[in-house]
Amino acid sequence: MKILVTGGAGYIGSHTTLALLEAGYEVVVLDNLCNSSDAALHAVEGICGKSALMIRGDVCDRALLDRIFQQHSIDAVLHFAGLKAVGESVRKPLEYYETNVSGSITLCQAMAAAGVFRLVFSSSATVYGEPEQMPIREDFPTGIPTNPYGQSKLIVENVLRDLSQAEPRWSIALLRYFNPIGAHDSGHMGEDPSGIPNNLLPYISQVAVGSLQELSVFGDDYPTADGTGVRDYIHVVDLADGHLKALQAIDGRTGIHTWNLGTGDGYSVMQVLRAFEQACGKPVPFRVMPRRSGDIAESWADASKAEKELGWKATRNLQDMVTDTWRWQSNHPNGYLE
Ligand code: NAD
Ligand code: UDP
Repeated sequence: MKILVTGGAGYIGSHTTLALLEAGYEVVVLDNLCNSSDAALHAVEGICGKSALMIRGDVCDRALLDRIFQQHSIDAVLHFAGLKAVGESVRKPLEYYETNVSGSITLCQAMAAAGVFRLVFSSSATVYGEPEQMPIREDFPTGIPTNPYGQSKLIVENVLRDLSQAEPRWSIALLRYFNPIGAHDSGHMGEDPSGIPNNLLPYISQVAVGSLQELSVFGDDYPTADGTGVRDYIHVVDLADGHLKALQAIDGRTGIHTWNLGTGDGYSVMQVLRAFEQACGKPVPFRVMPRRSGDIAESWADASKAEKELGWKATRNLQDMVTDTWRWQSNHPNGYLE
């Protein structure tokens, strides 16, 4: 079975490409490398001894997509390609809507023209906005995202819902990720953000490795146990496995299906920081700063729907996540560049 993985050189896409190859799938990656490098795919090959076919190009390029579908008999598409920096999306909304929304529409048009109707889409817990209660279930109403990135995910979910209503041949999985962190346990694949990281784990690990001075803890006055924000962190390898299960689950099952991919456990910023210090064996300097605008106090998943319907459950705990992140970061202090 041959899978097209858009954004397959990126953080989650490369770990999922590895999982697909290990499971015996053939993989074609389409990535314009705007936020990644093909070194991630070389690492995949080094780990599993198999390689994906890498095509460098843009998911908005319809002619290229048509050629890919003509030249390869693609059975299904995992669609990771997109821009993901919340702050940047506020400054560059058109780029975000073009890549994330137009790119998804162009992909679906090319898929339909080629008769490929099986799609797994990378959505996000951000579509829930600020829910009134925890844990978050898939049937909770979606919120009003506070930034173009979140809007783009919600828009694509709605487009895909309309598409599946209009054309019953589509089989679509919307996977709402909570907070992916961690790295492959080989220490040779991991998250490699360009510039100064926005997310907690890459920031902590760059402080630990000495590239950044101290972590800013955004707020310690939230209504949580220790006052810092609580999130559901999920190991990227568990997340990758979730994609394989979703791919199998929608085989022969039409319509649109939504699954949370999280662990069901919430950890505060301070709990994550302390766990990381244990993994790296040294203190990580931090300073409490005001809350970051747009952040919510807490967010964690009810992950039982995925367990029941996909037979999938995250197996790696917080200590595994921070240990694997540290192994990657200390082996590769400059990411894939070295
Ligand atoms: P990433 O930036 O590492 O990977 C995205 C990949 O898409 C990159 O390799 C990038 O080069 C590629 N890409 C971007 N624009 C493209 C285009 N126009 N054409 C072709 N390729 C393009 O990000 P990630 O963390 O691996 O995220 C993957 C997907 O999951 C994204 O859609 C993201 O929005 C979504 N997501 C991520 C998180 C997270 O915290 N990492 C959470 C929820 C959802
Ligand atoms: N956070 C922090 N300092 C940072 C980055 C993040 O204190 O440098 C906090 C943030 O306020 C939130 C949690 O860490 O409570 C996770 O943030 P991240 O940006 O990783 O993911 P989000 O849940 O915002 O998508």
